[in-house]
Amino acid sequence: MPAFDSSVRALLQQSLLRWFRRTARDLPWRRKRTPYRVWLAEVMLQQTRVEQARDYYIRFLKRFPTIRSLAVAPQRDVLKHWEGLGYYTRARNLHAAAQKIMREHGGRFPREPDAIRALPGVGAYTAAAVGSLAFGHDAAAVDGNVLRAISRLVALESDITKPSARAQVQALADELLPSGRAGAFNEAVMELGARICTPRKPKCARCPWRPWCAAAVSGDPERYPVKARKRKVPHKHVGAGLVVDRRGRFLIAQRLEDSMLGGLWEFPGGKQEPGETMEQCIARELREELAIVVSVGAHALTVSHAFSHFTMDLHAYFARVVQGRPRAVHCADWRWVTLAEMDEFAFGRADQRIIEFLRALPRTGQNWK
Ligand code: SF4
Repeated sequence: MPAFDSSVRALLQQSLLRWFRRTARDLPWRRKRTPYRVWLAEVMLQQTRVEQARDYYIRFLKRFPTIRSLAVAPQRDVLKHWEGLGYYTRARNLHAAAQKIMREHGGRFPREPDAIRALPGVGAYTAAAVGSLAFGHDAAAVDGNVLRAISRLVALESDITKPSARAQVQALADELLPSGRAGAFNEAVMELGARICTPRKPKCARCPWRPWCAAAVSGDPERYPVKARKRKVPHKHVGAGLVVDRRGRFLIAQRLEDSMLGGLWEFPGGKQEPGETMEQCIARELREELAIVVSVGAHALTVSHAFSHFTMDLHAYFARVVQGRPRAVHCADWRWVTLAEMDEFAFGRADQRIIEFLRALPRTGQNWK
């Protein structure tokens, strides 16, 4: 049974589309739409704020203006242009999908929903967003913003972390979708969630859905979407060796492809085990990863960083090799590089902070002990 009366549904559609036409932001991915550009923007905007994605999108497109240019680029180059955006699997999947499009679709982005879904990294949301915006498919794209706005609109009492509640919102979004205008409608609901129906202090007085919104009527819209209490995320202590040679070069290692942050470079190290000092942890990790024995010296800095499923303190210590030559035992590759040469490699956010720290040190060489 439909959740909305047909006249209410029409009013919800019209009021939202009118509001969007009047107030939509001028964003680079809205200017010249091609399937490739729509896809790139949708992938970047997952997990990334619009303000941050904007510059990355422009730089990425400048370097990889076509699917072909992305497909033939070395992965290292793609990761470098993603550096700092996080969730690097997105970049690796984008690259692999471009290669698949070249191989199986002659370089043209596929039109059919099943073919879009079959691209690496494309789930239900991205397929619906790209399908509706680039090809006019009647598919409702439900991201976090849409989940929030629609669950407030009907004051959904189900726990939104459960797949059944998400399926309820998807069904409501499908019902609200105006046939033939899915692209504009999807974008409008996402924009509503991003600018008006915000997680904190939603601006109900300026919302086009205000007259029909059950959460606004309840007087406590922030209570929605209903979420079960989050479990506390674990906290880890991780050691990193700033191993420097006589020429002032640093040893960096590339993470294994199938690990978290796979393919990125880092100052080698790993998680502290119970009962270990940080110096012992770094020495053990470098022995296991690179088959070298190091003497660990002074503490350089500690960087705190939050990932989606854990938080970490990364403790960086200077170190020197006292025995052995590096071998890639438990890493994909390794290099000795100067601080200037580090720009050629893609690092995660925490390691970039270490590089900034090292660059700010006076170059006496005395510091690196
Ligand atoms: S009226 Fe308020 S709670 Fe309801 S959809 Fe609009 S901003 Fe969100």
